[in-house]
Amino acid sequence: MGKFFVTTPIYYINDKPHIGHAYATIAADVLARYRRQQGDSVLFTTGTDENSQKTVQAAEALGQPLDQYTNAMAQQWQKTWNDLGISYTKFIRTTDADHHKAVLNFIKRVDVAGDVYKDNYEGLYCVGHESFMREDELVDGKCPDHNKAPEKVKEENYFFRLSKYQDKLLSHIEAHPEFIQPETRRNEVVAFIKRGLQDFSISRSKKHWGIGWPGDKDQVVYVWFDALVNYLTASGFPDDGYKEWWPADLHVVGKDITKFHCIYWPAMLMSANIELPARIFGHGFFTVDGQKISKSLGNAVDPRELVGIYGIDALRYYLLREIPFGADGEFTRERFETIYNTDLANELGNLVQRVAVMVTKYFGGQVGEVPPHSHDVKAYKDAMDVYRFDKALEEVWYLVKGLNQYIEEEKPWALAKTDTEQLAYVLRQAVSDLDQISMLLLPFLPTTAGKISATFADGKVHPEVGILFPKTDTIEKTEFKVK
Ligand SMILES: [Zn+2]
Repeated sequence: MGKFFVTTPIYYINDKPHIGHAYATIAADVLARYRRQQGDSVLFTTGTDENSQKTVQAAEALGQPLDQYTNAMAQQWQKTWNDLGISYTKFIRTTDADHHKAVLNFIKRVDVAGDVYKDNYEGLYCVGHESFMREDELVDGKCPDHNKAPEKVKEENYFFRLSKYQDKLLSHIEAHPEFIQPETRRNEVVAFIKRGLQDFSISRSKKHWGIGWPGDKDQVVYVWFDALVNYLTASGFPDDGYKEWWPADLHVVGKDITKFHCIYWPAMLMSANIELPARIFGHGFFTVDGQKISKSLGNAVDPRELVGIYGIDALRYYLLREIPFGADGEFTRERFETIYNTDLANELGNLVQRVAVMVTKYFGGQVGEVPPHSHDVKAYKDAMDVYRFDKALEEVWYLVKGLNQYIEEEKPWALAKTDTEQLAYVLRQAVSDLDQISMLLLPFLPTTAGKISATFADGKVHPEVGILFPKTDTIEKTEFKVK
């Protein structure tokens, strides 16, 4: 038995959650559930990044006081994860008092290491990114991701000596090839570091919103420097007990924020003399109907709406089976429905139903003694160890398809007339296989796995559990609302 500490990014609250946020959070949830199933204690954290200029702008646009806005949004994010059945164990808000304490302590450590100095800064700042940008990153003078001209900023700020950690970072990455995953992300990060690291500003002038800089009334902590520390706060830092959980075993992040997580964050930890996380995984993005998800395009699918129609497990299955974790993928309604009908309703749902109906018909619903699980799961475990959720599910589906085939070949309906001993053997084998399938599905499709177990609980069939995945033509359909 070990411990497993997994984190999602903390999300900006200038908008509500969309399916892209759900993707990262669901992936972390699968790992949390998997490790619990293995007997590990799990700390699984998610939360909201609130000390951002974007929060201020969003509140102003609605004419709401800042605290009213942040409380309402943090609640909405937390409720979304609850509605999606995410099994997080701690929800962090960067406006929480314990987080402020952690940030101030962290700055003290970095300062003691001699890595903080004051300097003048002049540059271009994109509020959308909450980051300074180089001229050569702009297109027609605008940030290409946010389609907005960055602000010209000239202020006196505190700086962090990132440049000092360039070589140390490179040797850490070299010595720990598993540190940054997948490999494409690691290569990008290494190339970025080799171009040369520059110190970066870790405070902003007081006119911005944020955690006050210790001992300087005119500055607040730069939002990323504050946000990254959330992972330490979650483990209880700076109180002594934090090492029970720290270092984090895995940070799940989007590929757009790998620079912050794979360069800034490890360097900050080195400076503060704190152990580095074991792994950082930068997942890919997916498009909706061929287009990037964006607020301005209005194609941000609300995950709660999908879940309201098809159930949580259908969404989880689609995202994890269709898109190899780490690569880019696509979401389309047609593909979602196809997969729902073929894989979930037909291959899995019907299978469970068929076995339950036959046990009821031929044995009065009494399952009898079920043989132990008989399928080798090494390939599944290997896939889980490297976060290839698509491969792990593919392995489960070999069993699902194999059992469908077994039933077709054995023809229990014919055996019922000729060989009841063989009939009992076949059906008990089928129930054993379904039990093994439900165990393997548990991290991915927790509701479904629970229903499969409940259908055959205590040696008899429970028809009251009902059908697993009703066909989409029987689901009362509402249009996918695009917001
Ligand atoms: Zn931008």
